Amino acid sequence: MIYPKKIPNWIDGREVFFKRKSSQILKKNPTDGTELGYISSINKEEIDSVITVALKKFKIWSNTSVVSRGELLKKTAMQMLLKKNEIAHIVRLETGKSMHDALLEVDGAIELGFFIAGEGRRFYGKTAPSAMPNRFAMTLRQPAGVAALIVPFNTPIANVAWKSFPALLCGNTVVLKASKDTPYTPIWFAKILKEAGVPSGIFNVIQGLGEEVGEALIHNRRVDLISFTGSTETGKHIQKVAADRLVKISLELGGKNALVVCDDCDINAAVEWSILSAFSNAGQRCAAGSRIIVFEKVYEVFKKIFIKKTEELKIGSSDTDDLGPVINGNQLSKMINILTKAKNDGISVLTGGFRIQDKKYRGGFFLAPTILENALPDSEISTCELFGPITSLYKVKNFNQALDMTNNSPFGLTAAIHTKNINRVQEFINHAEVGVVSVNGPTYGSEPHMPFGGLKQSGTGWREPGVEALNFYSQWKTIYVKHNPKEV
Ligand code: NAD
Repeated sequence: MIYPKKIPNWIDGREVFFKRKSSQILKKNPTDGTELGYISSINKEEIDSVITVALKKFKIWSNTSVVSRGELLKKTAMQMLLKKNEIAHIVRLETGKSMHDALLEVDGAIELGFFIAGEGRRFYGKTAPSAMPNRFAMTLRQPAGVAALIVPFNTPIANVAWKSFPALLCGNTVVLKASKDTPYTPIWFAKILKEAGVPSGIFNVIQGLGEEVGEALIHNRRVDLISFTGSTETGKHIQKVAADRLVKISLELGGKNALVVCDDCDINAAVEWSILSAFSNAGQRCAAGSRIIVFEKVYEVFKKIFIKKTEELKIGSSDTDDLGPVINGNQLSKMINILTKAKNDGISVLTGGFRIQDKKYRGGFFLAPTILENALPDSEISTCELFGPITSLYKVKNFNQALDMTNNSPFGLTAAIHTKNINRVQEFINHAEVGVVSVNGPTYGSEPHMPFGGLKQSGTGWREPGVEALNFYSQWKTIYVKHNPKEV
């Protein structure tokens, strides 16, 4: 599969390029900094015509039975399965992750497709008694309309699948705004939908910068629903825009996830999960373990093994490597600047903290996996999401301090605890202020059949995916039917 030199939009079932010189955005390969292709960006007026297409096709799609929509999505998932190497290759080129990791991501996206397709034969509402005699009460789901889906770059095909499958199953038509860092993945997905028989115009993809194209999309008054996954900063802005017309909105945002290491846990296992939580996908996970909170009794022993294992990690984009580059040069510079400032503020760098520039990595956006120590709990390093392979160690005396520190965060996405003590486990489950708790495992964890989402500044409270996603992508209607038994 050859990556296209010109990356199109996908409008009404076909590739669309805009010829203006000013609309071309360069996409680089993060592994070596070479040119992958040029993205053809859309403008405000052209977006309006895409919304017109999606609105026109809404009638057809929303009148197609949900069972039939599910069948078409099942065929889509089957096509993805047949072509999984193709999409994994695109994901690998766009992100710099290994083929092994890209395939795992693709598997998750396919599984999500099958799971959501199956919901077409359930799509349950409820029936209920009524206080009034001879009256029947029930609920059913209805489509919302034109859905604007805005996705980040970090797990491109999973991000697209997570939103598109439930949005389409529920009968909405879609205008998806691609990330400029992973622009071809959703185009590939659009082509697969077409091959599976989804009519044209129901799923559209537009390209461009967030502050121009994303901005025009969220301001368009004919958009009925906005689903955004990305940074908290952008999410807050979108919420303000959406508030003006009270459009339905789901925000899945950032995290600053704590992993607690208690004094009674299996230290080697805790190190292993901390490494994966902090550094897999080069730390570019909303659920990355960026705060490792360790009981003082085992702090030194944990720290020693954690540093040693981190320094043994293999960096690169091949299947034998543990983590790849960050997504682009800007992200890399941003992290280097943050680390420089942290060092000036007296924060210790236990390992890493620099760009890897040896011959093999030249041109690529590689940051050495970095462990920090001595950051104050309220400092910028401890409270801001960095979205790279950087984590910080914190020492606590006991469980209560660990729980307080876990909750002392503007975010509330995920948290993990490592312990053999059932009482600690249960108290942590009850009181950690997060949407996902993991016991003796990593901070991350998002399975297609389970709801994922966070509290506080990690989101607006909706959950994607799981059946819970259907609550966001459809509108509930309550129905009362009264009859008269004397008139039978
Ligand atoms: P980002 O906020 O920079 O961009 C996300 C998307 O929003 C991109 O498509 C971008 O073009 C678009 N965008 C930017 N400005 C916009 C605007 N003004 N109006 C409309 N759209 C706009 O995020 P990113 O750097 O691509 O992704 C990283 C972030 O995503 C991290 O904060 C991470 O935690 C978060 N994330 C969250 C989850 C979750 O489920 N909670 C999952 C993955 C990633």
